[in-house]
Amino acid sequence: MSKKYKIAILPGDGIGPEVMRQAYKIINVLKKKFFLNIQYKNYLVGYSAIKKYKTVMPKETLYGCEKSNAILFGSVGDPRYNFFNKNISLEKESLLFIRKKFNLFCNIRPAKLYSKLNYLSPLKNSISINGIDILCIRELIGGIYFGNSKFIYDKNKIKKKAFDTEIYSKKEIYRISRIAFKIANKRKKKLTSIDKSNVLKSSILWREVVNEVSKEFPNVKLNHLYVDNAVMQIIKNPSIFDVILCSNIFGDIISDECAAIIGSIGLLPSASINEKKFGLYEPSGGSAPDIKNLNIANPIAQILSLSMMLKYTMKLDNISKKIDNTVKEVLELGYITKDLSNDVNKEYVSTDEMGDIIAQTLIKNI
Ligand code: NAD
Repeated sequence: MSKKYKIAILPGDGIGPEVMRQAYKIINVLKKKFFLNIQYKNYLVGYSAIKKYKTVMPKETLYGCEKSNAILFGSVGDPRYNFFNKNISLEKESLLFIRKKFNLFCNIRPAKLYSKLNYLSPLKNSISINGIDILCIRELIGGIYFGNSKFIYDKNKIKKKAFDTEIYSKKEIYRISRIAFKIANKRKKKLTSIDKSNVLKSSILWREVVNEVSKEFPNVKLNHLYVDNAVMQIIKNPSIFDVILCSNIFGDIISDECAAIIGSIGLLPSASINEKKFGLYEPSGGSAPDIKNLNIANPIAQILSLSMMLKYTMKLDNISKKIDNTVKEVLELGYITKDLSNDVNKEYVSTDEMGDIIAQTLIKNI
């Protein structure tokens, strides 16, 4: 009997359900053609959960996630919610809550420019032609976003000062560094750690710990870059990067920069995992309310998020690679969704069609 995998599926809001329907097509191929014993169940989250549960993060959903090996997430966010709840962040109550609850300290975001889609990159052709394939590893539940922060008021109760604290323990830096080195070891064996150790004490500790961990991975070539230099080099010479390791705040900025130079958010998956390799897998983009229900959203980020689940939680590297290669093949054959089209490449397929094409090509590639 093959190993059983339980997935909690949370399509969420906006384009979430449409792109998730394409991921189901791939899951069905995995079940029927690859004979994977995958059991999945759907749960509501975000604005779509409010009608039934009056909350964006229902207990039932949380319980379903707890019983599973991994979460496949769509996206959350709806302008109707923002209108009525200006002070409560829907993402904070649902997505960030899940990240914290399951201790998902390691965020992994690949940014890959497919050669056929070079035209999407805002970079000069002479730069993008060298290829972009960067994996950004970001510490996700520590640092300045979770350190002590405060407003300080004057005697008239007017805000006078404010502070946030960048704080990292050695333990936190060790665990994220180890994962980054392990992943780099399986790729081009090149790791760039980002910090600001010319100014920040927390960055000095970061660099010391990363150097210490590097001794366990002599095959991986480590270099350090100050964050200000890193953001420039990523634009001027992205092909020199393989795996990038960052703190929470630097990773927030750099992973978005990497996404921007690829050109479409609809292609970019992400994974957030904990020490037990339980993970939340989701597209890097949001709920895209502007294109909801138009059948034009790009489902590739969702499908590649499923592929990351196979790689990082299920340890099924070969099948994950098959999905990644299939997506590459489909794009190379010229199939694109609307977000990937331009004046020259005008013809595009719908969300549903792209899901079908990828599923059929995957079956052909078994
Ligand atoms: P967004 O990523 O939803 O959209 C930005 C632009 O990218 C839009 O033009 C959208 O149409 C396009 N886009 C995004 N995904 C696409 C896809 N798969 N295919 C084609 N085009 C795509 O960001 P936003 O507009 O700033 O936010 C919209 C809502 O999503 C907000 O409520 C925000 O809070 C939420 N959000 C959620 C997440 C998440 O769930 N992880 C992340 C970011 C934003």
